[in-house]
Amino acid sequence: MSRQYETVIGLEVHVELATKTKIFCGCSTEFGGAPNTHTCPVCTGMPGSLPVLNRQVVEYALAVGLATNCNIHQYCKFDRKNYFYPDNPQNYQISQLYLPICHDGWVEIETETGKKKIHIHEIHMEEDAGKLVHDEWEDCSLVDYNRSGVPLIEIVSEPDMRSADEVIAYLEKLRLIIQYLGASDCKLQEGSMRADVNLSVRPAGSKELGTRTEMKNLNSFKAIARAVEGEKNRQIELLEDGKRVIQETRRWDDNKESSHAMRSKEDAQDYRYFPDPDLVPVVIDDEWIARVKARQPELRTEKLERYQREYQLPLYDAEILTGSKHLADLFEETVALCGKPKEVSNWLMTDAMRLLKEHEKELEELSFSPANLAKLIRMVDGNVINRTVAKGVFEAIFAEDRDPEQYVDEKGLRVVSDEGALKEVIEEILQKNPQSVEDYKAGKQKAMGFVVGQTMRAMKGKADPAVVNKLVRELLSR
Ligand code: ADP
Ligand code: MG
Ligand code: ZN
Repeated sequence: MSRQYETVIGLEVHVELATKTKIFCGCSTEFGGAPNTHTCPVCTGMPGSLPVLNRQVVEYALAVGLATNCNIHQYCKFDRKNYFYPDNPQNYQISQLYLPICHDGWVEIETETGKKKIHIHEIHMEEDAGKLVHDEWEDCSLVDYNRSGVPLIEIVSEPDMRSADEVIAYLEKLRLIIQYLGASDCKLQEGSMRADVNLSVRPAGSKELGTRTEMKNLNSFKAIARAVEGEKNRQIELLEDGKRVIQETRRWDDNKESSHAMRSKEDAQDYRYFPDPDLVPVVIDDEWIARVKARQPELRTEKLERYQREYQLPLYDAEILTGSKHLADLFEETVALCGKPKEVSNWLMTDAMRLLKEHEKELEELSFSPANLAKLIRMVDGNVINRTVAKGVFEAIFAEDRDPEQYVDEKGLRVVSDEGALKEVIEEILQKNPQSVEDYKAGKQKAMGFVVGQTMRAMKGKADPAVVNKLVRELLSR
């Protein structure tokens, strides 16, 4: 490449809020459900129906804004964004353009290149659209309005990111803050957190922004990282060939690892925004802000400190465990059931992490119950099963949330420490290996290790190692 280029990235992140009901009606926000069962005249856009704002939406948006160092528009309004699409029954989306609830904030990220502030242009509240279901056999498209009217916040960053690493660090930071606040579960796979990536390139050192494209349909961090790389390279190639980048919305196809144009990008004026006449402005007084601040739950820094103090965990463990709200919850609930914080931490940090990696799953997908992990830890502690066996049992808990006691009984995995039974097995091994007995008597300690190993193998790992060691020594020194 003849010139050096700089990549410039800004994100629009949509987050579905954890309210029980929708933003402008009382319908349930629950994910799934039979099509069009969580609907009413308001969220299906019936003429004459009127929206009423859900107070909890404002509180969550405020909480996120305060935790990301934003200023608050204490007088804020809703606007109509007009466009026609079948998943949007009113033919407009209620959103905020002129006076978004939060503006001018920042979060700090850390990557290999150090710490950096990513600025937030604004956070606004809006409603989600329904979903089109394209039927492959009937040659028709159907629409499900269950998601229509589910509350969203859209967090718009400044174009401050320069690499896929920074994008991921920023998203992880946002997710952590929002999860800790309880404002959303931020599941990328289920779409409760969705990121649109705006990306342009420019010659290094240039101050002007290049023409950007926007990529949608990114539902995992890995897909986002690949999309950033792919789009960056596509744009650089265009410029190197003397061509222009066209401002457009592109769809990233993670299987093909390439993107294709979806539509040319609209400008704000194409949406003919205007203030929604059905909703009164929201006035957020100082007391309301103070109440939301006071209710802020324990955030990461406090948890990090408490884990070291209360559970005596090393900083390393505390950092990993508090790095995800879900993991921290799992940890705390398990410890509450069985004590043994370091044991719980070890299972989560070693075995759970290894299995997640093997199955290419995200932390949020850890779905076993704290009760089963606690039971497993108690079984190891009480010497009901040994550690080797326990690893296998953990895999069953990880995969299917199996009850470890049932599983162990079903598979006959309990530790055998019955001396009579073990003696029989050892005698047989000694008979088959007279050389080992002689070696031991001649002072070769290694021979004992060999017999112990053979015994454990014959017992398929279920023998109590302490008892086996004791018996082998006794029988060898007869
Ligand atoms: P629109 O109203 O068209 O969505 P915005 O000005 O709201 O555009 O910007 C949307 C996102 O795109 C923001 O996150 C912003 O930081 C980012 N962005 C804007 N211009 C560029 C650019 N030239 N390169 C990269 N990102 C950009
Ligand atoms: Mg925008
Ligand atoms: Zn409704």
